[in-house]
Amino acid sequence: MKYLDEFNDPALAKRLIDDIAATVTRPWAIMEVCGGQTHSIIRNGIDQLIPDQIEMIHGPGCPVCVTPLELIDKALAIAARPDVIFCSFGDMLRVPGSGRDLFRIKSEGGDIRVVYSPLDALKIARENPDREVVFFGIGFETTAPPNAMTVYQAARLGIPNFSMLVSHVRVPPAIEAIMQSPTCRVQAFLAAGHVCSVMGTAEYPSLVERFAVPIVVTGFEPLDILEGIRRTVHQLEAGTAFLENAYPRAAPADGNPAARRLLADVFEVTDRGWRGIGVIPDSGWRLSAKYRSFDAEYRFQVGDISTEESAVCRSGEVLQGFIKPHECSAFGTLCTPRNPLGATMVSSEGACAAYYLYRRLEGVPTPDGRQVVGSIG
Ligand code: SF4
Repeated sequence: MKYLDEFNDPALAKRLIDDIAATVTRPWAIMEVCGGQTHSIIRNGIDQLIPDQIEMIHGPGCPVCVTPLELIDKALAIAARPDVIFCSFGDMLRVPGSGRDLFRIKSEGGDIRVVYSPLDALKIARENPDREVVFFGIGFETTAPPNAMTVYQAARLGIPNFSMLVSHVRVPPAIEAIMQSPTCRVQAFLAAGHVCSVMGTAEYPSLVERFAVPIVVTGFEPLDILEGIRRTVHQLEAGTAFLENAYPRAAPADGNPAARRLLADVFEVTDRGWRGIGVIPDSGWRLSAKYRSFDAEYRFQVGDISTEESAVCRSGEVLQGFIKPHECSAFGTLCTPRNPLGATMVSSEGACAAYYLYRRLEGVPTPDGRQVVGSIG
């Protein structure tokens, strides 16, 4: 299949791996920002195919994982109201809040509906004028345009019973926060191509310059990621740092200007809490004053809910690349996809879920108390 098979070619992959192996002379730590890239790396064993000197650090680019506990609890409070139809993408339903999740609310009688597009939620609102319909709008820059379009349409069509609980986050401030951490080990970044397909690449040169860190924009197929690693290693070994776009087929330098204009109209930049990490200045979007009446947080007065993260879950350290998922003592024992303690074990882009799904179980106790050595299967 075009655009899939051609980016999975084993012979080309071997050529890229050989080039990386011939270039690398010392250890390097490279962070892939996006959770989709993390899953591709683990699923295809890319981290095991490249030379041992290169460590792939898994970044915070999973929107479900970084949605703060406080916002999940706000979603649960709104979803439990009898006058509300709460609409969400399916992967948010099992994300644990302080005490329960959306599935629990649904089992207790909440009207919670899984939708495949925010516009589906708008349709439900038009069909149910006597109910409040709330869409849980989370994600990075990639999912922001359809959410912005939905709010824009709600305003244009005059649908007053629709609102959105917004938790949008932005990649560049997260990279800045990671680089400013005193314990940062990251020496280069693979930037998420789909984010750049919307936003373009203009936000990255200042980060490259300020932190002298190579950033290579790349995609999600195995050859995309290997090419991103190859270009990154060439820069690191040469002692240079610049922005490269290894994904021009989908991410033009100016991104999608029409989408950016819509985002600038509907959203405004705000500080945003990242689950397990804390507040990162200017790292999120909320609805702009013009569209504030569609903001579920204001409409349902849930602004004063505050919570504390689980003491057991170390997802904040996973999301910042300080530990690998299997280094969390709960991984695979107390915490599994069936009984998740943190969002990184639930989400289809979460690093803990990737390690569990693809059997990276080193060090995890077996039922008879022994420890698994090496990957299984
Ligand atoms: S394994 Fe579970 S408890 Fe540990 S960091 Fe991951 S999500 Fe949190």
